[in-house]
Amino acid sequence: MVENRLWTSDRLAVRGLSHQPTCQLCKGMPETTRHILFECRYSKRIWQQTASWLFCPSLVQDMGSGRETVLQYWNAITSSPTAHPFQLKTAVTLITWELWKERNTRVFNNSASTPLALMQKIKEESKNWILTGAKKLAEITS
Ligand SMILES: [Zn+2]
Repeated sequence: MVENRLWTSDRLAVRGLSHQPTCQLCKGMPETTRHILFECRYSKRIWQQTASWLFCPSLVQDMGSGRETVLQYWNAITSSPTAHPFQLKTAVTLITWELWKERNTRVFNNSASTPLALMQKIKEESKNWILTGAKKLAEITS
């Protein structure tokens, strides 16, 4: 994932397109890709639940805060101690994708999931990823 490739409001504002300047997940902070995926209190709840789901107890602590780029967060999370580092990368890909989809659902469909409901979706979706060949995710989540 590349920093600023996603169409966040800060970027849309620069281009003069219509935008929601506030994060739609927490309604409290300016929207940036970094915020949506890693810094938002909504996303943090997802990462906390992910930590127990994937038996990766120091995930949230290792993710840290105040990092400058999405890539720095990404590297910090995927370096969190786990017996299955490659599987963790697959899981992090799925989770950031689902967080981004949740953001879009709120912006474009005006419908929202609680962190608990989104976590259920992520677990369901992980089964689909497993079926379509993300075998590494199967190993870590079984
Ligand atoms: Zn937020």
